[in-house]
Amino acid sequence: MAGPVPLRPDLTVLSGYHSPQVEVEVRLNTNESPLPPPPEWLDELRDELGRIDFNRYPDRDATALRAALAEFHGTDPARVFCANGSNEVLQCLLLAYGGAGRVAALFEPTYALHSHIASVTATKVVRGWRGPDHRVDLEVLDRVIDEAQPVVTFLCSPNNPTGRAESPEVVAHVLERAPGLVVVDEAYGQFSPWSALDLMHSGVTGVERLVVVRTFSKTWSMAACRLGYLVADPAVVGACETVVLPYHLDAMTQAAGRLALRHVDAMEARVALITEERGRIASALAELALESWPSAANFILFRPSARAATDVWQDLLGASVLVRDCSSWPGLDNCLRVTVGTTEENDRFLAALGASLDASRR
Ligand code: PMP
Repeated sequence: MAGPVPLRPDLTVLSGYHSPQVEVEVRLNTNESPLPPPPEWLDELRDELGRIDFNRYPDRDATALRAALAEFHGTDPARVFCANGSNEVLQCLLLAYGGAGRVAALFEPTYALHSHIASVTATKVVRGWRGPDHRVDLEVLDRVIDEAQPVVTFLCSPNNPTGRAESPEVVAHVLERAPGLVVVDEAYGQFSPWSALDLMHSGVTGVERLVVVRTFSKTWSMAACRLGYLVADPAVVGACETVVLPYHLDAMTQAAGRLALRHVDAMEARVALITEERGRIASALAELALESWPSAANFILFRPSARAATDVWQDLLGASVLVRDCSSWPGLDNCLRVTVGTTEENDRFLAALGASLDASRR
């Protein structure tokens, strides 16, 4: 064959998922925690690194980490699977259950990686669209599920990028209606008033097909570590273990996650602070008469109505404040998404936003 080796044909339409990583003073574009993990955690991790046998492969089953997570959630370690970020957890689920001839259903606008990973794993994606207020419309949902018979149905709660948490009734409804796994991505779960984990031990129909996915990247302030996990029926854990690479989760990450779970109080304090700041930003956006949607996460989606979102994004960048420009995403016409930062960062964002809107009124 002459010339470059052709890519798998079904991949050529996919472009990668990127948020521009521009050097700025205030980074509010990727929903990370603005605060570092507690210093005690770092001290403990340093000590732990000295005890790792670096010449040996890590514990393939991540036994201690899974035990700690199981204890944290009041469940069995056999129901916990860990991987390099929740993205790898999602990838394992789709490698195990998706693939050619199988369908994943999702409700847009939602987290772009659900459809992206499905496509990379050759899983067909069937989409339903949310209503104008970004709620999942149960009629649409029923139609999509009945027609597509998906092997995986994704819900994202709170939903990235819209911020809304699904209600327990919606999750229970999907469990009853969908034939396959119901994957509830709770990357922002701790900011939300309830978790699908609460349903795990309920008698809800189909609960054995419920998969809850979580991450250490947001509330645990550990995006650099790449650690995510799922809680589900042991058969789902077994399926993920079948497809994941051996020794995929390194010893340092396993230790980092296990030690983080000793600092639940510090994590909860950060969540409380960010939740309070979220309320402050929401009020400020309302005062600026901008359309925004109620958020149960650490970000807010808003629409700078009178101005082009890309112009506002550019003005903010000019003030060294980076937010996410979602305006070209389907269903998110003229929308921007701002991650809740520290009080000072949020002040910088609000001042820059106010200035941008003022300049356009002159
Ligand atoms: N799910 C959702 C909804 C997200 O927003 C993100 C991060 N943007 C992830 C999963 C992936 O997180 P990570 O791989 O860092 O755990």
